[in-house]
Amino acid sequence: MYDYLIVGAGLYGAVFAHEAAKAGKKCLVIDKREHIAGNIYTEEKLGIQVHRYGAHIFHTDNKEVWDYVNSFAEFNRYTNSPVARYKDEMYNLPFNMNTFHELWGVRTPEEAKAEIARQTAEAAEKIGGEPKNLEEQALLLGGKDVYEKLIKGYTEKQWGRRATELPAFIIRRLPFRFIFDNNYFNDRYQGIPIGGYTGLVEKLLGDTEVRLGTDFYKEREKLTAEAKEIVFTGLIDEFFDYRFGTLEYRSLRFETEELDTDDFQGNAVINYTEYEIPYTRIIEHKHFEEFGSAPKRAQDGKTIITREYPATWEKGDEPYYPVNNEENNALYEKYRALAEETEGVYFGGRLGKYKYYDMDDVIADALSDAKKILKN
Ligand SMILES: Cc1cc2nc3c(=O)[nH]c(=O)nc-3n(C[C@H](O)[C@H](O)[C@H](O)COP(=O)(O)OP(=O)(O)OC[C@H]3O[C@@H](n4cnc5c(N)ncnc54)[C@H](O)[C@@H]3O)c2cc1C
Repeated sequence: MYDYLIVGAGLYGAVFAHEAAKAGKKCLVIDKREHIAGNIYTEEKLGIQVHRYGAHIFHTDNKEVWDYVNSFAEFNRYTNSPVARYKDEMYNLPFNMNTFHELWGVRTPEEAKAEIARQTAEAAEKIGGEPKNLEEQALLLGGKDVYEKLIKGYTEKQWGRRATELPAFIIRRLPFRFIFDNNYFNDRYQGIPIGGYTGLVEKLLGDTEVRLGTDFYKEREKLTAEAKEIVFTGLIDEFFDYRFGTLEYRSLRFETEELDTDDFQGNAVINYTEYEIPYTRIIEHKHFEEFGSAPKRAQDGKTIITREYPATWEKGDEPYYPVNNEENNALYEKYRALAEETEGVYFGGRLGKYKYYDMDDVIADALSDAKKILKN
């Protein structure tokens, strides 16, 4: 008899399994996929660590979590500094003095602020009141150039709707930085595990028994009978047979390609901000691991890129981003209340809690849940 059946070998499941094993508990981890690590899964191809489910960059301000992951893997000094391509123009991101110089040739924070003030005042005059949609909101916050070149098309592709049909509240502020700094994240710690994320998850799982290609629902009764309690990291609404309704997600489609070139784009992430190009970004995987140098494997003459296309989601598709609007949050609340009444089952992770979690949040949450659950 297992103490815990852990459904999902992603980051949440693996951290919980690690903590449970440390506490002397016997666990069985299952996953319906044929691999561990969930969405942070990386696989080696041509000597390159490929992020199968999209670019994953570890960043955190939480020292405890940073020390925790570093005890399982060595991290490189990768610093996310995406570049935006609008038609044939290239702009550094996030919006900072480099971006403003590229847009307008300005050289000082004062000049940049003056140009933004000029453009936002122009927008305010035209709109003449409260913003009625995302387009107006972005124009009021950032002005015409930033909006048209860097926000409009990208946002419309992400949401699958025109900016004039999207609510204003989606953008509350624009993170303008009036310094020359292309580091996307503000967190103190950042990096990519050398050798990929799968190795990190393997270490977390250690000697815990793992059954891959095992869907909980196909063997629900048998699996439930094998363990005293369940830690469930799949879809919470599916667990309860969608009795209150279906929670919505946005999905993504990835198109991965091997190319006969040493270096396709000179950066890990290039965002395509014009609407007419159907993908939102291209990632070139070798730059995650070999950050800070021209690719060492240049002599191989090969690289691997992935195009990322936003996609609508229907039941059965891969659920990537929860749509946390009022309706879905209210529906989730019903499931959460039901989960609380359900003895012997704990819900965790991004699908179990219907929340967009970065990796550091998932780890912090799994550690705190494990502390509570394992005390019982
Ligand atoms: C495109 C994208 C990019 C991201 N980039 C970043 C980033 O740069 N930095 C960052 O910090 N975070 C990033 N994240 C977030 C990160 O992916 C998550 O924080 C993390 O993967 C969540 O782990 P999890 O264990 O909760 O979920 P998952 O990794 O989804 O694991 C859940 C597992 O449960 C399994 N499962 C579900 N149902 C069943 C079932 N019925 N039976 C058996 N198994 C089941 C699934 O197969 C899956 O393997 C990104 C997310 C996405 C979608």
